[in-house]
Parts: sequence; structure tokens; C-alpha cells
Amino acid sequence: LVVLGIETSCDDTAAAVVRGNGEVLSQVISSQADLLAQYGGVAPKQAEEAHSRVIDKVVQDALDRANLSEKDLSAVAVTIGPGLSLCLRVGVRKARRVAGEFNLPMVGVHHMEAHALVARLVEQELSFPFMALLISGGHNLLVLAHKLGQYTQLGTTVDDAIGEAFDKTAKWLGLDMRRSGGPAVEELALEGDAKSVKFNVPMKNHKDCNFSYAGLKTQVRLAIEAKDIDCKHPLSSATNEDRRNRADIAASFQRVAVLHLEEKCERAIDWALELEPSIKHMVVSGGVASNKYVRLRLNNIVKNKELKLVCPPPSLCTDNGVMVAWTGLEHFRVGRYDPPPPAIEPEDYVYDLRPRWPLGEEYAKGRSDAR
Ligand code: ATP
Ligand code: FE
Repeated sequence: LVVLGIETSCDDTAAAVVRGNGEVLSQVISSQADLLAQYGGVAPKQAEEAHSRVIDKVVQDALDRANLSEKDLSAVAVTIGPGLSLCLRVGVRKARRVAGEFNLPMVGVHHMEAHALVARLVEQELSFPFMALLISGGHNLLVLAHKLGQYTQLGTTVDDAIGEAFDKTAKWLGLDMRRSGGPAVEELALEGDAKSVKFNVPMKNHKDCNFSYAGLKTQVRLAIEAKDIDCKHPLSSATNEDRRNRADIAASFQRVAVLHLEEKCERAIDWALELEPSIKHMVVSGGVASNKYVRLRLNNIVKNKELKLVCPPPSLCTDNGVMVAWTGLEHFRVGRYDPPPPAIEPEDYVYDLRPRWPLGEEYAKGRSDAR
């Protein structure tokens, strides 16, 4: 088996070719870092145009680097949700064109399921059931994975995701936004004193597994105002004192943001073990899982609960095509795929896009008209 995976749900255009045994034959990503810096976030229309400009080349490069042609593929997998429908549509249209022309089956993939399942490519012994914490720009999910396609959501965010809080913190601290904010905050935090600014851990008194990062974001903004930090002033030319102040805020924010994860993970593991006592692993994935401090702290929690942490390498934690190809493979193997689309698509064909698609909700649900 060999599957091509295509991912365009947000701001990265990605494609990869993966073999059934987990061998990654190629991986290509084109990111919209310049656009992000310009707009301070993802602007759907601009993102769609950027995907459209590069999608053909990204897919071609993935095939070339794998040394394969479309004819060698077993199937095409593509993210159909959740995400921005304008962006999802670019990937789905491309996938259908390739599959139609070469008579290949198609697998529609859930972006967050892909973030979780890519851990099974990395860790061969990771079998169901397992726990997963998925932390990214738009999601903060604690899930119990019973089996392929079957998930119980134990917790989610009631407002923002942790990645959004990292991105805003980076922006307000005047950090370099040509890449996403998370790595910039992580790097600056190394210079700071994590206990110097007192931030409250969110939802201390809630006895559930949900998250909230909007309040922490506000606390960060107030701390920045209180220290009179001018975010328009680049860090590179800051005075020593200004730089230390910014680093202290970055480190203190990161500590509390992660403490919130730790508290909820502890509870969620207890809940999950009651439901599925045979759980042995906890997966931590999504862009924020590439953060070293996050990995270190969560590893302690998971070890204390006598589970093993599985964290994909950073390049597979942030959005990528490998996770889509791999998740496509998993579903393809058990017969969950769509027949090849017609070689020539009718003009008015309505794509099956699922911009809002809770993880664990039936794949077979009626198609949503996202046009
Ligand atoms: P979603 O998966 O929810 O649809 P997304 O696909 O945009 O969102 P990902 O690519 O999975 O998100 O993750 C991007 C997020 O991860 C950004 O918010 C980014 O700041 C964050 N991130 C990436 N690297 C790090 C890091 N080292 N530390 C903290 N956050 C990070
Ligand atoms: Fe993602």
C-alpha cells in the first residue's frame, strides 16, 4: 500500500507519500509564514489563494521525491475537516482531480484524528485503546481513543486553545512572527524567571477536564501593559531590562499555560482508566506538543500514572501531510474509503467538507454543504 496525503485545512499546504508499513517516502510543506506576519493571523481568503498557488507543485514535489507517479498509488487521502472551508476545498479539489484522473479510491480524513493517529506511525506498539491530548492553534482536546474512528471526548476548550494563547503572547511581546508564535515564546522563555509574574491557573475550581485560555491571554496582556512594554519595538533592539521583562512574562505564561494542561491531564487519565483499564499510552500531539517544556512536564504526569508518553517528532506535531496519509492508510486498510470520483467532475459538484466536525462523530454522517 502507498497513500498520498494532502492537507490544506489551515495555513500550511502539505503533501506526503507514506507506505503501509509506515515508511515515509516524502514530505513537503509550503507554509504561509509571510502572510501570517502581514495579517497577524490566518485570513481565509488570502490563505485560500496561497494554497491554490502552490498546491499543484506541493503534490508534484511529494510524488517526485518519493520517486513515484500517481499510477503507483493505492489511494489518495485528504483532510476534509475541521478547518476553514475555503482552504479545505483547495485540498479536496486537488485530491479529487488526482483520484479521478488515475481512478484511485479516496479517504476523507479528520484533521484532529490525524494529529492523534500519526503517533501510531511513530510508535509501533501504540495500540487502542489509548489517551490523547491534542494541543494546537484551534483545538485543546482530551480524548479517549477506543478504536479506529471511535473516540470519546473527555475535555475541550470552552474558549481559546493553548496555541492561540502562545501566538497572541508572541505578538504582544513583539516577537518575530514570521514563524508561528509558539517557538518564539518557548525560546524567549528560556531566558526568563517562570515564577516572576503571578498568573492564575485557569479553571482551578472546575472538576472537569475542560480548558480555558482566554483569561490567561488577558492576564498576559495586562502584565505587558503594566511593564510598559512596547510590542512595536522589536526584541532585537530592546534594552537588557526590557528584554528581561519580556522573557519573564514569556516564561511565566508558559509555566501556567502548561500547569493547566497538567492538572486536566491528571484528571482525564483517571477518568479514562475507569472506562478503559487496559490503557498503556498517552499521546500528546498537535503543534504545541513540539514544545520541549510541554513534553517534559507532561512526561512526568504520565509516568506518575504509570503510562507511557508518545509524542511525535516536532515535524509531525505541527500540520503535515504524513499524518493525513497515515490516517488515510489506517482507514483504507479496514475498508473505509470512497470509490474513485469521475475523471471529469460536474461543474456544480458539492464537495463533502466538514469545517466543524467533532472528533468521534460518525464518518457516515450526511455530507455538509459548505459552499
Ligand atoms: P488545528 O490543528 O487546531 O486546526 P493548526 O492546524 O493551525 O490548528 P498546528 O499546526 O497543529 O495548528 O499547530 C500550530 C500551533 O502550534 C500554533 O498555535 C503554534 O504557535 C503552536 N506551536 C508550534 N510550535 C510550538 C512550540 N514550540 N511551543 C508552543 N506552541 C507551538
Ligand atoms: Fe493542526
